Amino acid sequence: MTTELEIGLYIFILAGFLGYHVITRVPPLLHTPLMSATNAISGISLIGSLVVAGANYSRLSTALGFIAVTCSSTNVVGGFLITDRMLKMFKRRDELGIQRRFNPKLLLAFPVLAVVFLVLIRWFRRYGTDTQLSGAALSATALRYFYIVSAVLFILGLKGLSSPKYARKGMFLAAFGMLMAIVGTLFHPEIVNYRWITVGLLSGGIVGGIMGLQIPMTAVPQRTALSHSLGALAASLIGISEYVRHVAVGLDSVKMTTIGLEVIIGSLTFTGSLMAAGKLQGLLPGAPITYRGQNVLNITLLATVVGALIYLVFVPSTTTLFFVIVGLALLFGLLLVIPIGAADMPVVIALLNSYGGLADASMGFVLMNKIQIITGSLDGTSGFLLSLLMCRAMNRSAVNVLFGAFGKVEPEQADQATDARGSVRSITPEELTVLFDSVRSVIIVPGYGMAVAQAQHGVSELAKLLLTRGIDVKYAIHPVAGRMPGHMNVLLAEASVPYDQLYTMEQINPYFPEADIALVVGANDVTNPAAKNNRNSPLYGMPILEVDRAKSVIVLKRSLRPGFAGVDNDLYYDPKCMMLFGDAKESLNHLFAALKS
Ligand code: NAP
Repeated sequence: MTTELEIGLYIFILAGFLGYHVITRVPPLLHTPLMSATNAISGISLIGSLVVAGANYSRLSTALGFIAVTCSSTNVVGGFLITDRMLKMFKRRDELGIQRRFNPKLLLAFPVLAVVFLVLIRWFRRYGTDTQLSGAALSATALRYFYIVSAVLFILGLKGLSSPKYARKGMFLAAFGMLMAIVGTLFHPEIVNYRWITVGLLSGGIVGGIMGLQIPMTAVPQRTALSHSLGALAASLIGISEYVRHVAVGLDSVKMTTIGLEVIIGSLTFTGSLMAAGKLQGLLPGAPITYRGQNVLNITLLATVVGALIYLVFVPSTTTLFFVIVGLALLFGLLLVIPIGAADMPVVIALLNSYGGLADASMGFVLMNKIQIITGSLDGTSGFLLSLLMCRAMNRSAVNVLFGAFGKVEPEQADQATDARGSVRSITPEELTVLFDSVRSVIIVPGYGMAVAQAQHGVSELAKLLLTRGIDVKYAIHPVAGRMPGHMNVLLAEASVPYDQLYTMEQINPYFPEADIALVVGANDVTNPAAKNNRNSPLYGMPILEVDRAKSVIVLKRSLRPGFAGVDNDLYYDPKCMMLFGDAKESLNHLFAALKS
């Protein structure tokens, strides 16, 4: 066990380093697909769940395994489908109009695999135990190699995300790796009953399929949170099943520690992610809920859980304490997310992604399943890196996000922000047409308001019209514009904007002084010059899109109200800035019609 643990730890650490190198190469353009891709890959918890559901441990284990199979297969199917839907939308200018169709011949793979599977099961059942080169021995050996190949395919899949050109092919490899791991696991020597496995795989597959194909792109953050909660629930249930199974015969300290970590991280990620999904979907109040002594209570609760686990490591048979730990971890997950504002949810989701990876890796340690240790480590690294990137781009610390209740805009801040501090020029779409008559270059700056107004198609139509008039159009994408990493990229890709027209902040900033118009569509904080000029501003130090250096600036928003940071924007008082007030979609429609006529 100790040698196994040692090997497992080496694998965990090395996979983390590998994940770091692969994931840092993923461009911000593909950060949203990266989140759903790691989500799908972390559905590898399915293989541990399959064994528990199919082995004849106990009725309770079978029931818990069945739920875990359903949850994990929902993630696998839903995760790969939605990632593919997103990746299909990313096109270069020369690829526009070319439909990337699904090749129906690929569907043939499934009946072929089903037949192969049935033949192998038959062979396995017949020669399972009685020859020296038994089916059981062969399948266990084959399984090990299946897992190694699958792990390689997962890493290649993530590596593919370093460019939109190879991303889909990469994800196809990863999906194939997942299929290999699942099919291989079905021959696991301990699986004796396929009834609950089949029901779980089918129901999870159907739910995941519907989610993956139907969910609108704007709901991707809550879907991601929901699938983290399903993955974490699977890990937690398998941990409970393993505890119940082994406690009667005795648990050594290593096994107890890994099971304890699995259920604690799994349970808190489960409720935390559910809470995040509820807030993002608007089912729960989005604003942070804070009260006196909140951080003290949370830290005390966490310390109690850790203390109880340490006790349990020495006295594993204290079954009641084990379930108290599960309950407290569930409560801790809720309390952890309550004080975080809806707008900070993306950071939290990325962190929960990372916790989900850790829960998956702990499940790998409990079952001594190396592929789960690898994918858990990859998932953990990806989530952690994304949350750090987001915090850095917002000029905030992770501690501030987690304990600062930042998404809460104090009333006096909002009032202050709406106080006029100078004159603001407003303009109508008709007046703007005169300005557009003489321009040669326009930089479009989308922000969260574009997502709210669903104005991406209007933006794309306007850009096409400008291009036909010989005007150069570029899009400036700030790394934290919107409410999740790569939010703007996905929406613009959905509106068929070629990704080679999208420029990152570092690429576009030198172009602003040459631009005739910076057209800001529902962006606010990411354009606020106070981030450069005002040391007292909460935004000070955050790198911004330097729209104020363009020859003129047009801002499409409904009012002068602040954005996510709750900070007034000095840009609107700049003499070369003009405000086109109103819903961004409607304003764009009016502008388009005025330009056409
Ligand atoms: P923002 O600063 O939140 O501003 C969005 C603006 O959109 C608002 O000022 C709002 O003004 C306007 N708006 C809302 N609905 C609109 C509509 N229907 N039509 C037109 N305008 C509308 O957005 P941002 O500039 O994209 O900056 C993102 C912020 O979110 C940053 O502070 C960032 O740190 C934070 N954040 C981002 C992420 C991420 O991963 N992307 C994660 C966490 C936090 P009106 O109300 O006046 O219309």
